[in-house]
Amino acid sequence: MNAPAFDALARLATAGPAATTRAVTAPFTGAVLGHVPEGTAACVEHAVALARAAQPAWAAVPVRARCHVAWRLHDLVLEHREAILDVMQMESGKARRDALEEVLDVALVARYYAARAPGWLAPRRRRGAFPLLTKTTEHRAPLGVVGVIAPWNYPFTLALTDALPALLAGNAVVLKPAETTPFTALFALALLRAAGLPRGVMHVVPGAGETAGAALAETADAVQFTGSTDVGRLVAAVAGRRLIPASMELGGKNAALVLADADLNAAALGVARACFTNAGQLCVSAERVLVDARVYRSFRDRLAARTRALRLAADFSLATEVGSLASAEGLAKTRAHVDDAVALGARVLAGGTARPDIGPFFYAPTLLEGVRPGMRAWSEETFGPVAALAPFETENQAVALANETDYGLNASVWTRDAARGERIAARLRCGTVGVNDPYGAAWASVDAPMGGMKASGLGRRHGEAGLLKFTDAQTVAVQRGRPLAPTDTEDAAVYFDRLTRALSFVRHVPGLR
Ligand code: NAD
Repeated sequence: MNAPAFDALARLATAGPAATTRAVTAPFTGAVLGHVPEGTAACVEHAVALARAAQPAWAAVPVRARCHVAWRLHDLVLEHREAILDVMQMESGKARRDALEEVLDVALVARYYAARAPGWLAPRRRRGAFPLLTKTTEHRAPLGVVGVIAPWNYPFTLALTDALPALLAGNAVVLKPAETTPFTALFALALLRAAGLPRGVMHVVPGAGETAGAALAETADAVQFTGSTDVGRLVAAVAGRRLIPASMELGGKNAALVLADADLNAAALGVARACFTNAGQLCVSAERVLVDARVYRSFRDRLAARTRALRLAADFSLATEVGSLASAEGLAKTRAHVDDAVALGARVLAGGTARPDIGPFFYAPTLLEGVRPGMRAWSEETFGPVAALAPFETENQAVALANETDYGLNASVWTRDAARGERIAARLRCGTVGVNDPYGAAWASVDAPMGGMKASGLGRRHGEAGLLKFTDAQTVAVQRGRPLAPTDTEDAAVYFDRLTRALSFVRHVPGLR
């Protein structure tokens, strides 16, 4: 990918009057990749107005025709995957294999909703108030303009996998990508348009969170936010004041639980993936590894060896296992968490240093032991390649430790006894749990809801819920015979007595209740 292509992508941004530009840099090298218009609050208002004007015509397109866009998008992202990976890697500094997971995720979600949206959006007959007399139908109407506010860590997935169900439900979308990854979002828009999405139905407005993001929360008809819990609270407060639907996908402080009967070699591989995928900049990545004391030493040594062996590089090869952190801020936070833990007595088992020899923001995958409450790495989300190991004595203690966080996004349980793994999963207060899998099996099960409990979020993406949250339900009840109310001439006591007897009759008829 070369500079002119970035310039062409920049022209797809919806910029209002008097927009200035922002330089986008490559984390691998610090070089400037290109410039995008800097969206102001006025740019966002302009984009929302354009989207609002385009939405009714899009909603009038039959659902199956809207779904053709998703089918074509599925094919296009697979066909153009190399170019998508290039843009994503250049802009975010992630390893190519992590970028590839995003491409596959978008294809999976596009296929899933393309196949199912027509059924879920069709009018559905519901059981009426009175059998035979009441015909009740649930209709699903689009919300209008959905504002999608996205982070930088999974810039392709999070530009598309919420926007797509919103679009298929008949909404228009205005997307505010993260400050550092607008080109991936603009590429996503180019692909949607190539897939047949009419111009005007989706807009990308790059810009700062406090201005463009805040303006989107103030003007859209619904908001889909993915990012940190702190900013999520601000956006949710705006949505609460405006009484608009809001879905919040927020941070995590996820645990991996390694039981004594686990296959320790497989668990070491899997837990290393849980901790260091995308250099730890993954909402569902593990930052706490809780290990049964009986196997603690042997597991610790395996995981430390695996961590030291991970291949880091600033390159475009699928063989590279760990890429760069995305920014100087991410590097500073990672460093601060490790330094704080070490200063307070934690021990470094692997890593523990920056790797400027590879790239300006690289940090070695790091394992710590002896991390305790009071250390930042114990309770705060690092969002970098750092994990803390701790032993547990009993299953109850493991569950209590895993739940000892304000967050509740993801966890993994490693055991040869899958049934026990499922029983433990049921005791964990988090939205997804992988048994013998770090995160991918739950995330890629797109038929099931994905999201966070506690401070990790509100609402869910994926599955039926991930589509219907972008709709308003409307119930239409057609009553035959007479309305459900006593007439002027009727004795109310007689009427309500009849009604009560009818209800109690229905109570005893299995096919009717
Ligand atoms: P962030 O909260 O700083 O920013 C997210 C988005 O919000 C960006 O587009 C930003 O510009 C915008 N924003 C910032 N201030 C805003 C404001 N006042 N009003 C409206 N928008 C505003 O998060 P980040 O650093 O980009 O992403 C990392 C965080 O995202 C981590 O906590 C991670 O766990 C979380 N995350 C969660 C999921 C999930 O599915 N649960 C997925 C990916 C990332």
